[in-house]
Amino acid sequence: MDLDFTAAEDAFRAEARDWLAAHIPASPLPSLETAEGFAAHRAWERTLSADRWSVVSWPARHGGRDASILQWLIFEEEYFAAGAPGRVSQNGINLLAPTLFEHGTPEQCGRILPAMASGEVIWAQAWSEPESGSDLASLRSTATRTADGWLLNGQKAWSSRAAFADRAFGLFRSDPDADRPHRGLTYLMFPLDADGVTVRPVGRLDGKPAFAELFLDDVFVPDADVIGEPGCGWQAAMSTAGNERGLTLRSPGRFTAAAERLTALWRAEAGPDDTTLRDRVADAVIRSRAYQLFTYANASRIAAGGSIGAESSLNKVFWSELDIGLHETALDLLGPRGELSDEAADAPAEGGWADGYIFSLAGPIYAGTNEIQRDIIAERLLGLPKGRRS
Ligand SMILES: Cc1cc2nc3c(=O)[nH]c(=O)nc-3n(C[C@H](O)[C@H](O)[C@H](O)COP(=O)(O)OP(=O)(O)OC[C@H]3O[C@@H](n4cnc5c(N)ncnc54)[C@H](O)[C@@H]3O)c2cc1C
Repeated sequence: MDLDFTAAEDAFRAEARDWLAAHIPASPLPSLETAEGFAAHRAWERTLSADRWSVVSWPARHGGRDASILQWLIFEEEYFAAGAPGRVSQNGINLLAPTLFEHGTPEQCGRILPAMASGEVIWAQAWSEPESGSDLASLRSTATRTADGWLLNGQKAWSSRAAFADRAFGLFRSDPDADRPHRGLTYLMFPLDADGVTVRPVGRLDGKPAFAELFLDDVFVPDADVIGEPGCGWQAAMSTAGNERGLTLRSPGRFTAAAERLTALWRAEAGPDDTTLRDRVADAVIRSRAYQLFTYANASRIAAGGSIGAESSLNKVFWSELDIGLHETALDLLGPRGELSDEAADAPAEGGWADGYIFSLAGPIYAGTNEIQRDIIAERLLGLPKGRRS
């Protein structure tokens, strides 16, 4: 792996930096977890996509720039360093799109990806069910064959931003007689405003209303909206999960930028002579850099034709713990003021720490809980005996 950037990569970084400086909204957008913020962030997705910055690593025909993975990481670094708005399209871009690139038909890619890149269609992930989170293969929602498609029934839970999204993708049991729980599952897409879909918002700790559970009652889905082969949804789902944990969900730019902000906060709040929290600030900086270098190594491996396997679980555990530690340190620096949410009148100017801390607590849960990731690391990377899941 070469740690120096090429001239083309430096030029790409400069172009991204200039574009972001010229286009980032002058004042922060409202939270994308509210109806008003969702609409504002959808408009931001349109702005990004108009100059092909919304999905830089995608092929140009789908709205991207044919950029390399390394260029995507560079773009993300610039994006977070510039303090650009959160991405309301992230479920589609980070989860559904890689699944379509691997398992979708050309017709599906042509129909779905450009509208995803522009923010015209925003996607929710409908995987979890009330009794099926970690043990996803135990899911009970069904897809039943009809003459020209499928009828979906059941309940999905914990669907991020589904209260405002346009469409969802999820796994359904299409063969109740399959010999194993993860066989006989089909991966389907459906509109959230279809007949038979009820979207019920679920309250969050921060009071924002975008999280939802979905109730499906004979929801019709045409064959054109099945991803991969019927009955083989598990394979497609596992490629989505690997992408989510391994590379696409949390790029290092998010943490290197937050570590920079934390360092600035430490200088402003504690002063260089106050060493109380210095080691924790330094630790956050070092860990964010370590994650960055580890990700560069993974990206180089993929660019050379390799792939990420169980190592994606290492990533997931590492960044989720880093995120909590970083935010905890910021709150300890701020003292009682740190508890004010971004909307509070006296919230710290460099806001986001309290809201960021609350959200960071979910990191060890979503995208597969850290307990499960540790089991995967133990069994598949360290070769330890099978544990509780056997
Ligand atoms: C902020 C947030 C956003 C989310 N967004 C979405 C979304 O958009 N779409 C979606 O489909 N889902 C979403 N989820 C759901 C998420 O994927 C699940 O919460 C997660 O998979 C855990 O499942 P569970 O909640 O059913 O917990 P459980 O599986 O019941 O786990 C409870 C606890 O038991 C532990 N545990 C369970 N089984 C084992 C085992 N075999 N070995 C060791 N420990 C075990 C778990 O690690 C956990 O600590 C979201 C969750 C959160 C918190």
